[in-house]
Amino acid sequence: MLTCKEVSYLASKKLDRKLSFRELIGFKMHTAMCRLCRHYARDIKVLHKLMLKVGEKGQTLLPESAKLSEQSRDRIKLALDKALQDDNKNNKFIAD
Ligand SMILES: [Zn+2]
Repeated sequence: MLTCKEVSYLASKKLDRKLSFRELIGFKMHTAMCRLCRHYARDIKVLHKLMLKVGEKGQTLLPESAKLSEQSRDRIKLALDKALQDDNKNNKFIAD
């Protein structure tokens, strides 16, 4: 059975792409028995939908004065891409 840490990773991954059959079975089995992970998965799904709605309307949650410069956004994007790549390399615990 998957650990709560693994299931929280899959709950997040599930929002961005389809899980493999094996991942989905592991996720469903764990969340059927673990209330905390079930609630976590539900909560981040709701948060994800809210963020998509904000993005669709072109709105931000920040005031104009808090917006980042183009350079800062590019720098953050690069750092996030690198972190995601590193994360993908380190989270190969579930074979597809
Ligand atoms: Zn759990």
